[in-house]
Amino acid sequence: MTNFEPATIDIDRLIEERQVIDARSDPEQATQVAESITAAADPMPLMSAPPSNVVPLPGGYIDSDGVLHTEVRIREINGSDEEAMARELLNPNVNIPKVVDLLLKRTVLSVGLIDNPVQTGVLAKMLTGDRAAVIMGVRTLTFGTDWEVPDFPCKFCGQTFGCIVELDSIPIKKLDDPTEQEIDVELRHDRIARMRLLTGAVQLEMVGDGKRTAPEEVTTIIDRCLVSLDGQPVRTPMGKKMSMADRRKIVQAMADSQPGPRMEEVGVTCTECGREGDYTVSLVDIFR
Ligand SMILES: [Zn+2]
Repeated sequence: MTNFEPATIDIDRLIEERQVIDARSDPEQATQVAESITAAADPMPLMSAPPSNVVPLPGGYIDSDGVLHTEVRIREINGSDEEAMARELLNPNVNIPKVVDLLLKRTVLSVGLIDNPVQTGVLAKMLTGDRAAVIMGVRTLTFGTDWEVPDFPCKFCGQTFGCIVELDSIPIKKLDDPTEQEIDVELRHDRIARMRLLTGAVQLEMVGDGKRTAPEEVTTIIDRCLVSLDGQPVRTPMGKKMSMADRRKIVQAMADSQPGPRMEEVGVTCTECGREGDYTVSLVDIFR
């Protein structure tokens, strides 16, 4: 013998007590009530779903315990952030990674299970492509996915035209295996360089004060990201010793392998000449 009894609803008793309207006997009132309930639950039924404050990472952050964190919680940009960004843009040595860093530090609330991503240095250790994806998420959360450009310059006819770029149409590359964040690059003479993918911290060091030459930036990338050469661990800076051709191969392979939005593949059609092309859009441009 058990005390448990399945829950039963005495529908006739509820109808009698007018807690339930029987659609069979009173269809008009049932419709009215149904409509009022729908209206209360969904006051703006024509609006699409609001942009999410959770951004999935196309790569992922692996913490020191080896745990993979796959999404970031963000907030939208407020007036204080807007002022800070404008101040940064006035700086003559401004560069995009610095502005991205500033925005991320202000708008990222958590990375996976990590609630204090700035203090723990997690933001800096994230892949540059993941950081770009988060910035896109912040942009979308704040302004929506449509980016209105009044004066887009056509690279074919040279004229400018007004257009709306749908930011959610920009292709996003995902890591096949997010737990694998190193790549092997084939160099000349069958040598193999194992490289860690670029993180925010290395990117910031790479651009420095914004006055570095491109070869100086490449040297920093190689010095910081080269893990091994032909299987032998590398512990001293190698960037300046490598051949120019190998350096190029490494940088190209690292760029190709980095996950994230392909900001150099933004497809736009010119309304003046009708030609479609891929354009490079910076992560700062989309906040204009
Ligand atoms: Zn054109």
